[in-house]
Amino acid sequence: MAIQSVGVIGAGQMGNGIAHVFALAGYDVLMTDISQDALDKAVSLIDRNLERQVSREKVSAKDKKAAMDRISTTLTLSELGQTDLVIEAATERETVKHAIFEDLVPHLKPDTILTSNTSSISITRLASRTDRPEKFMGFHFMNPVPVMQLVELIRGIATDEPTYKALIGVVEKLGKTAASAEDFPGFIVNRILMPMINEAVYTLYEGVGNVKSIDSAMKLGTNHPMGPLELADFIGLDTCLAIMNVLHEGLADTKYRPCPLLTKYVEAGWLGRKTGRGFYDYRGEAPVPTR
Ligand code: NAD
Repeated sequence: MAIQSVGVIGAGQMGNGIAHVFALAGYDVLMTDISQDALDKAVSLIDRNLERQVSREKVSAKDKKAAMDRISTTLTLSELGQTDLVIEAATERETVKHAIFEDLVPHLKPDTILTSNTSSISITRLASRTDRPEKFMGFHFMNPVPVMQLVELIRGIATDEPTYKALIGVVEKLGKTAASAEDFPGFIVNRILMPMINEAVYTLYEGVGNVKSIDSAMKLGTNHPMGPLELADFIGLDTCLAIMNVLHEGLADTKYRPCPLLTKYVEAGWLGRKTGRGFYDYRGEAPVPTR
C-alpha cells in the first residue's frame, strides 16, 4: 500500500519535528494533541525551523510553503483513523499510549500502519493492545528530528515483513538512515545512551564533579558534541527518568537504578530546556549550571 497521509499524535518536541520532516518529504500530515496550545506552538515552531532552513539555503521558499500547506491539526484523535500511517509521539507513559491506541483503533482503516516513537516501551506490548499487531512497529526518531540522520526501526514479535518493508521505504523517502533493533528495553540507542547519562548524574550526585566539569570532561575528553547533562536537559529529564525506569524494570538489573538526583529534578518540575530549568538554568541570556 502506498503511504501518502501520516497522522502524528502528540505535538511536543518530537511530534513537531516528525510533522516537519514528513511534510517536507511530500506527505500530508494531520497532527493531534490534547492541547490546542501545544498544536499552535508546534505549527509556529515548524514554520520558524523551516524558515531557518530557507535562510541557510537548505530548503527553497516554495518547498517551505508547500510543506506548511501539507500540515493540518485537530483535537479529535479519531480523525487520524483515515491516514495511511500513524506515528504516536505522546508523553512517554505506557498508560497514556495504551489509552491513545485503544481510542484510535475503532476508527482505523484496515490497512493503516500503526507506529510508536517510544524511546523504551515494549513494542510487542503496545501492539498487543491493538487490532493489528502485525501492522505495528517502533519508529524511533532522534531529537532534533530535522537534523538527526538515524531512525531506529523496531519490530514487535508479530510485525510482518510488508510492514517492515513499507517503513524502510518511508525512511528512504525522508532521506534518513534506518538501523533495525530487536524489541528489548531501550532498543539500541537508549540501552547505551541512558546509562551513560544516568552515570553522569551519579557522578554529580556523589560530588565527583560539578555540572560544568562533567560536561567539559565528556565533551573535550571523548569528543562528544554535547556533555551528558546538557544532553539530558535537551532530551527532557522526565523522559530520561522514564527510560531508566523501563530499563530497570524490564532488565531487572540494579545497574540501571535511576539516580535519586535525577528523580529529584523531575519531582521539582526541572525537566530541562522545555521547562526553562534542569541541570542548567535557561531563563537568562546564557545557560547557568544549577549545581
Ligand atoms: P513532550 O513532552 O515534548 O511532548 C508530548 C506531547 O504529547 C505533549 O504536547 C502532550 O500534550 C501530548 N500528549 C499527552 N497525552 C496525549 C494524548 N493522550 N493524546 C495526544 N497528545 C498527548 O515529549 P517528547 O519529548 O516529544 O516525547 C514524545 C515521545 O517521543 C515519547 O514517547 C518519547 O520517549 C519519544 N522520544 C523523545 C525523544 C527526546 O529526545 N525527547 C527522542 C526520541 C523519542
